[in-house]
Amino acid sequence: SAKAHRNEYSSYEPEMNRKAHDRLRLESDLRRAIDEEQFALAYQPLVNLTSNKVVGVEALVRWHHPKRGLLPPGEFIPLTEENGLILQLGEWVLGAACRQNKAWQDAGLPPMMMSVNLSMRQFRQHQLADRIKAILQQSGMPPQYLELEITESMTSDVEFAADTLSSLKELGVQISIDDFGTGYSSLSSLKRFPIDKLKIDRCFVNDLTRDASDAAIVSTITTMAKNLKLKVTAEGVENDEQIQFLRERDCEEAQGYYYTQPIPANLFENWFRHRSQT
Ligand code: C2E
Ligand code: CA
Ligand code: CA
Ligand code: CA
Repeated sequence: SAKAHRNEYSSYEPEMNRKAHDRLRLESDLRRAIDEEQFALAYQPLVNLTSNKVVGVEALVRWHHPKRGLLPPGEFIPLTEENGLILQLGEWVLGAACRQNKAWQDAGLPPMMMSVNLSMRQFRQHQLADRIKAILQQSGMPPQYLELEITESMTSDVEFAADTLSSLKELGVQISIDDFGTGYSSLSSLKRFPIDKLKIDRCFVNDLTRDASDAAIVSTITTMAKNLKLKVTAEGVENDEQIQFLRERDCEEAQGYYYTQPIPANLFENWFRHRSQT
């Protein structure tokens, strides 16, 4: 009977209801958050391993939730990707990052790349290049300083990816493949795409100095990048030994807690000025 059925499931029904309810709440909070601009960007430097200079920053979104406090992207980006809110949020991120880059230029900081993450949904958005062009024009940021980060999964439809990427390249921006090595991308497709950089996923960098296969993977990616005339950044660098290894393998750039965690714009400026003096 219906009653017996209910009893059978009663032990986890409330749990499921709670999860569905939390999700709905988060979704309505997100809609409000976009209107009320509760988001902020944190910035993490990319450092050239030869010159030791900061060559760019990656913009990473944070949500200052009125009740739950500071939320990392892992707690809300997947939901925005499912319900489409990522399109609005992604536009906000792009605009805010470009305005910040321009502001730093106007404040006399040396030119720096600004890396922004694109989601699958954005990548598939109609007239993405036109939208980005408008954002660049509104912010006054020169296109050559914008670096768009995509993931290997976005390149699975090779024709579509090649077209989209070439329309983005026409704007004069840079393209990198994020989390490289964790997804599936064939070497032949890599060759077909107008990409500028590979970012080695931090899961290979983590144990680099203890795990021989991770070391081999990082060396292989670095060599391949060089042969394909691509730049390469190692992500998630946390210690001197990793930096040492990466320098020996001629890895161009590094990013990670070794330098600093992602920090708000004003703290980044302080960090940068302090670092330049020492
Ligand atoms: P990601 O693009 O791979 O960004 C790097 C992540 O690694 C960041 O996490 C950063 O805080 C973390 N990280 C950096 N250095 C280290 C390190 O040395 N050790 C460790 N353990 N972690 C390090 P975060 O900020 O939580 O972002 C997580 C992911 O959320 C990002 O991964 C990116 O995929 C996504 N994301 C962030 N901002 C945006 C955005 O504006 N749009 C989209 N579509 N996705 C975003
Ligand atoms: Ca990224
Ligand atoms: Ca990454
Ligand atoms: Ca990622």
